[in-house]
Amino acid sequence: MIACLERFVPENDIESKAAVEASIMCKTLDLQGSIDRTASADNDFGGLYSRRPLAVIRPSGADDVARVIKAASLSSTLTVAARGNGHSINGQAMVDRGLLINMRPTENNHFKEVKINGSTYVDVSGGALWEDVLKRCIEEYGLAPRSWTDYLSLTVGGTLSNAGVSGQAFRYGPQTANVAELEVVTGRGEVVVCSEKKNCELFFSVLGGLGQFGIITRARVLVQSAPDMVRWIRVVYTEFDEFTRDAEFLVTRQGDGESFDYVEGFVFVNSDDPVNGWPSVPLDPDHGFDPAHLPRNADSVLYCLELGLHYNNSDHPSTVDTVVKRLLGWLRFIKKLKFQVDLSYVDFLLRVKRAEEHAKANGIWDSPHPWLNMFVAKSDIAEFDEAIFKKILKDGVGGPMLIYPLLRSKWDNRTSVMTPKEDVFYLVALLRFSPTGSNGAEVEKMVSQNRQIVDYCVQNGFDYKLYLPHYQTEEQWKEHFGGKWERFVERKACYDPMAILAPGQKIFERIRNISCNP
Ligand code: FAD
Repeated sequence: MIACLERFVPENDIESKAAVEASIMCKTLDLQGSIDRTASADNDFGGLYSRRPLAVIRPSGADDVARVIKAASLSSTLTVAARGNGHSINGQAMVDRGLLINMRPTENNHFKEVKINGSTYVDVSGGALWEDVLKRCIEEYGLAPRSWTDYLSLTVGGTLSNAGVSGQAFRYGPQTANVAELEVVTGRGEVVVCSEKKNCELFFSVLGGLGQFGIITRARVLVQSAPDMVRWIRVVYTEFDEFTRDAEFLVTRQGDGESFDYVEGFVFVNSDDPVNGWPSVPLDPDHGFDPAHLPRNADSVLYCLELGLHYNNSDHPSTVDTVVKRLLGWLRFIKKLKFQVDLSYVDFLLRVKRAEEHAKANGIWDSPHPWLNMFVAKSDIAEFDEAIFKKILKDGVGGPMLIYPLLRSKWDNRTSVMTPKEDVFYLVALLRFSPTGSNGAEVEKMVSQNRQIVDYCVQNGFDYKLYLPHYQTEEQWKEHFGGKWERFVERKACYDPMAILAPGQKIFERIRNISCNP
């Protein structure tokens, strides 16, 4: 039927052809879910791009997703993008005149505790938000996943398509290292269950695979007993080498009780700037930052190590104090610049949600966010600090500048995620918030500063990788994947041979289905 209709569409008019194909397809698809063909332009958290899909599909489950992909593969040019919660920065979840599958309606399709060989897992939907996974796991089982992101209004499928990192990753690896099984709808429209033992090539392709090989409809996530409470601590450094020494010391101590349960860090400006400076450090409004404790020779930027120790209500308070005292005793921070609060484990994990509410009230949550996320090898991080934090970013980015070490040994090399080669590398996240009413030129200035930073890394031969990568050309993607590019291309040819999926990543061009041409 599609082929028949194409006879009446001008050969060169790909756009209208796609629209016609989508229209016919939508009418003939027999979905349990729904289709909206009047969808307006889609945008994402980055706010830098906007694309208009031809239709937005709200699937009821994997079968609907499979039907949509199969139908798209029969068309000449249609592409399909899964949208998690649209928290990408550079349009990665968008589709230009293709089909957008909104995964959120599938959020409750799966939720079940599974015990295998002494380990406990919870099966969750690819469209579920991590914050809901957290609440349900705790309420129903007293359990929680081990590895998180800082912010939890992200979907399971969205973070597993990247990596998913936070302050627990030094111990447990990224979220991609904490799943045992996936249900995936491939670019061939097949629903496949995969794991390390079963269809393992697909399993590892999809993890960190930028949505290129399949759409995750279910994930089996490793869980453990959830603590009741967290002691959340921030300590301040003036010297970068002391900050990194202590951070690396903590992340390499893997034994029980040998380190904190959460280790992150950030750079802040040595000034009273309310967003970028001293006021961004305290955790409790009653305990302000007293700059009199800083040495006179402190530089333009300072460093904060952010730590968390889990405990239970049944633990004696003095036990927690003793452990914290012992662990902090090894560190070289400015002793009078220590901040701490005790809060429930759930409140700790939802800490960015509170920042979101604040930012929404200020209007900066909805303005553009030209964020830059990278992994930088340990051997290059001191120069990164000298050239980038202390100079290019000495006035801050209008939001957090995260920096914390991760261990490559905790990342599975078989996944599609790319990291630097060294054993220790740093996550660097420049989480820029543009002030309300910023104009295009101001946002472009931030984007070009990001480019300047990446160029610096390239020119100085840094061992680095973009996290949540965003490139425009095949050459750039080849460079990103380096020696793993061929494997990535082979996996694509195997699982999504027509290059239907995740066109917003701009890695592969849709292969035209010539059998559709009359
Ligand atoms: P989307 O943006 O909707 O999609 C991202 C990509 O995944 C797209 O290519 C899309 O097509 C694909 N995709 C979506 N769902 C599926 C699926 N079910 N199956 C296959 N592919 C799919 N990341 C971290 O690692 N750690 C953090 O601490 C962290 N904090 C963040 C805080 C904020 C405020 C924001 C905005 C982002 C943060 N991120 C963090 C980045 C985040 O992990 C990624 O942007 C992630 O892709 C967003 O998830 P999403 O569900 O919104 O995905």
